Formats: sequence, structure tokens, C-alpha cells
Amino acid sequence: MNLADDALCDLHLHSTASDGSMTPKEVVRSAHAAGMRGMALTDHDTVAGFIEARREAEDLEIEILSGVEISAVHDSNEVHILGYDFDVEDRPFCELLDDLRERRNRRIPKIVTRLNEIGIPIQSERVFAIAENQSPGRPHIARVLVELEICRTTQEAFDRYLGDGKPAHLKRNAISAEQAISAIHAAGGIASLAHPAMRSSHPPGGLSGQIESLRRLGLDALEVHHPSHLRRTRRNLKRLARHFELLMTGGSDCHGDGSPGVAIGRGRGDLRVPFALFDALQQRNRAESQASPETGPRPA
Ligand code: AMP
Ligand code: FE
Ligand code: FE
Ligand code: ZN
Repeated sequence: MNLADDALCDLHLHSTASDGSMTPKEVVRSAHAAGMRGMALTDHDTVAGFIEARREAEDLEIEILSGVEISAVHDSNEVHILGYDFDVEDRPFCELLDDLRERRNRRIPKIVTRLNEIGIPIQSERVFAIAENQSPGRPHIARVLVELEICRTTQEAFDRYLGDGKPAHLKRNAISAEQAISAIHAAGGIASLAHPAMRSSHPPGGLSGQIESLRRLGLDALEVHHPSHLRRTRRNLKRLARHFELLMTGGSDCHGDGSPGVAIGRGRGDLRVPFALFDALQQRNRAESQASPETGPRPA
């Protein structure tokens, strides 16, 4: 394998299996067309797109890791935990993801009721239809609000109704970050903190304190490269990753039409995630699973 220094990867991508607009196959094709050597599909709370993505990745000879993005809470703050290179058929892990999607299914009608209460005639059935009964979330509600011509764009739907703190925002009944990290480890994977600098509130002890406490719970990596991170933030996150001996990950978090101006592999134009990060993650994980073949939660 030619590990040229300029080889790139994208380790944060969404498909129609959650709230992206491209099918898993289209995501892989776009990553390949953008020149990526490696990728991971990280749909919210589901691995339903993986088999299709892997088939396409094999055809196009782009390297792929299994992936997922789990919404969790830590010290009352919502955090997103990325899981990589785990066994997508691990039974307890699949059961956990099923449970998380069930919680999503229960949350949709509650948000819809809030919208109805403020006079918006939206129906849950349409939201589930748009989500194709996969991993429904606020972006699918936003699309229905656009369809009903109540909002011009999905962004407007978040800004007016669905975003954190807006009238129809409903806190999710999420699992703890500790549970998410342990479950990823038990399925043989690596856990990374997604977009650490993109938060609606400030955790106690600031970013460094949050990372330190997640490290104690077994966190393996930090998402350093993300379109929401300015150069200064990336530098700070690299420093924190080195300080806490964490691996680094990165990706565009592209949702297709749901993230205008963000391209796979390139983010807003200046994203460059070295393929070396993909390689380091895979090597570390495979070395650890050889060291403990009975896969179980690793000590923090
Ligand atoms: P949910 O998983 O239902 O809580 O929805 C979260 C998803 O909605 C995120 O993964 C983003 O894709 C999108 N999202 C969250 N907040 C915003 C926002 N303020 N503006 C646009 N999209 C957002
Ligand atoms: Fe999303
Ligand atoms: Fe996220
Ligand atoms: Zn994401």
C-alpha cells in the first residue's frame, strides 16, 4: 500500500441511514471522487448503511472502517461519541443501537406535539416517512417544515423551532457517555469525542476538564479536524490529544444537502485529514484486540 504523505481520509460522514441526503453507496462514491484513501460512515445511532458502503468501498478500492455517532450525555451536556472499527454484528451493541433508535422514535411525536401546540400542522407520520423509518431526528422534522412551506430552509427550521433552546426543542433521553464508550469497546472498537469544540453549553472544567473526565471513562481519541474547528481550535485540540495521550480523528461531518457548503473530504475547503490518522487508529485497535482476544471493556 502506498502511504503517501498527502493521502487523505474522511472519518465523519452521514448517509440516508440517518440524516444525510446521499445513500451509503453515493457517500462512498463521493469520498472516492474527492480522492480519499479511507473513510468511515458515522450515521447517528445506526450501522444500517455499513454493508452497502463496504461493498461499494471494496469495488472502488477505498479503505473503510465501521463507524457510528452516538448521542450521549456527560455532566448534563450533550456529547457525540464516534465509534470506529468495531464488530457491526456484535449482538449487545446492535441491541443498544436498536434501543437508541426506539428512543428517537418516541421523541419525534413529542416534538411534533410541541409544534402542533404553537399552531404548526405537522404530522409524525410524514416525519417517519421522510426518515424512511431508519434513524429519525430533528433534520427530518426540519425537512417536513420546508415541505409544508413553513420554513424556507432546514436551517431556518432549526433557527426558529428545533435548535437547542428554541420553542420545539426537546431534550433527548440519552445514554451516558460512559455507556456509549463501554459499548463501543465491548464491540471491539475505538471511541472518539466528536466535534469537541462545538457545544451549546460549557462543561464544568472547560473543554480540558471534559476531555480529562471522558479519558478516565476510556475515551481513546479526539476529533481534531472538523469544519467547525478554526485553525486555533485544531491546534488546541492537538495539544490536548498529546497531553491526554489520545489518538486524533477527523472528518467533514457532511450530511449532503443538510450541510450546505460542506464537501466530503474537503469540509468548507480547508479540511485535510491525513490518512495516517486512519492508519494509526486501525493499528492501535487491532494491536489491542490481539492483546485481549476475549474482547471486553478495556481499562481506562
Ligand atoms: P437529533 O439527533 O434529532 O438531536 O438532531 C441532531 C442533528 O440535527 C445533528 O446531527 C445535525 O445534523 C442537525 N443539527 C443540530 N443542530 C442544528 C442546528 N442548529 N442547525 C442545523 N442543523 C442542526
Ligand atoms: Fe446529523
Ligand atoms: Fe455530531
Ligand atoms: Zn455527525
